Parts: sequence; C-alpha cells; structure tokens
Amino acid sequence: MDKCKHCGKELTHVEGRKKKAFCDVNCRNKFFYAKNKKLVQDAKKTLSNPAAAVIVEPNSTTGDEFMGVRVPEGLAGIQLAVWKNNIKLGKKKK
Ligand SMILES: [Zn+2]
Repeated sequence: MDKCKHCGKELTHVEGRKKKAFCDVNCRNKFFYAKNKKLVQDAKKTLSNPAAAVIVEPNSTTGDEFMGVRVPEGLAGIQLAVWKNNIKLGKKKK
C-alpha cells in the first residue's frame, strides 16, 4: 500500500481515480512548502555570496547606457544592479 509522502500515513485509493501521493490537502501543502523553502534558502545563499553574483554579469557593460545615462566604467554585478536601481529611482522623482 502507498503511504503519504509527508506523514507516512497509509493511503486509501479511490477506484478509477488517480492515485494520491498525500493523505490530505494539508500534507500536500506542507510537503510542497518544505520543498519551496529549501529552494528559497538556496537562492538566498547564492545572492549573499558576492563572488557568485558577479559571475552572473561579467564586466561587459563598459560604454553602455542605461535609461539615457552613461554606465560608469568598472561597474558589474551587484554594484551595477544598485547603480541601475538608483537611476530608476532618480528618474521616477522627476
Ligand atoms: Zn499525510
């Protein structure tokens, strides 16, 4: 007999219907919440590691413009993202 993936309770399947993997909707929610929580934590770890973040955007923006403003040389990764955000905020005020 199949068991609930979350709590391990034995499952009763309804004849002619799709087999269940969880005993009820609460167990299903908890299972997927726990799974999502891990993904979110992994993403946060990557973001809090500056070395990993810089790799995402190599220094290829020299000479580029963002919203009509020249991007300062040497800006990359998080610094560039912060700079762009400041430009956006500055443009909104006007
Ligand atoms: Zn369960």
